Amino acid sequence: MPKLFTKIRDLRNYIKTAKQDGGYTVGFVPTMGYLHDGHRRLIKSSKAHNDITVVSIYVNPLQFAEGEDYERYPRDLERDISLCEEELVDVVFAPSDEEMYPERPLLRISIEGLTEVLEGQFRPGHFSGVCTVVLKLFNIVNPNRAYFGEKDYQQLKVVERLVKDLSIPTEIVAVPTVRDEEGLALSSRNLYLSPEERRSALSLYRSFLLAETLIKNGNTEASLLKKAIEDFILKHPKVRKVDYVEITDPELRPVQQVKEGDRILLAVWVGNTRLIDNWRIGDAKVRGHTQGRGF
Ligand code: AMP
Repeated sequence: MPKLFTKIRDLRNYIKTAKQDGGYTVGFVPTMGYLHDGHRRLIKSSKAHNDITVVSIYVNPLQFAEGEDYERYPRDLERDISLCEEELVDVVFAPSDEEMYPERPLLRISIEGLTEVLEGQFRPGHFSGVCTVVLKLFNIVNPNRAYFGEKDYQQLKVVERLVKDLSIPTEIVAVPTVRDEEGLALSSRNLYLSPEERRSALSLYRSFLLAETLIKNGNTEASLLKKAIEDFILKHPKVRKVDYVEITDPELRPVQQVKEGDRILLAVWVGNTRLIDNWRIGDAKVRGHTQGRGF
């Protein structure tokens, strides 16, 4: 069984002793719970490179804007602890809101050129909330390494920059997106999808393969590719709206002509569920273009 902590002070003491007396390294996997195989991949990476792995489970109210799904976000601590037990996680940190925010934080964090674009444009305050909770958790856990999924690519870039700008002594490790056998990126929010919506949601992954084919055939103009992706996704019956399709370099700067290593990023409403996904151009080649196989 992992050791369960709900109080900041208790976890701090535990980590301090482990680091000072045991000389242990600490790997940290921050999550909002309702764990799936994507989180499992992060945990496995941490276990492979650290003596102690800490998983936090906390649905952070600060990163949800008014009218978003904070209230209905899935929560099941018992189930999450079982998954952590299977993965031999050492410590689970599951604080209450009162423990994390006895007062509403007044701190606001923005990172020029990174937090106002893409997700930031559609979710005002989101990345400020993410940065606040990540900094707070880092101050509590004091990890040697922290693991973030490429599934939330912009979040990964924001956290990398946060750590760099503030000289935080934690190494940020990026973990590739885990998809199901049909290509749908795993997400706790997939739970919201009806079977028909799930079928339409596969269009996100398939649009990446379509883009790869177009690129292979010499179409490298970003505007053309973005239009083809959007048109393809919108053809699917349960797709309500495309918030954005963007193609950028690895540092999230928009590009005109795409090349290997660039990223396609998108956010799409399927029914009442907002899904995000992204793709590294060139990955279909790596995977032999086998749709839904081998990952
Ligand atoms: P969440 O619980 O959704 O806030 O995610 C916690 C961490 O798991 C974040 O770093 C996510 O990027 C990562 N994550 C979520 N889904 C996936 C996935 N399908 N593959 C890889 N990492 C993921």
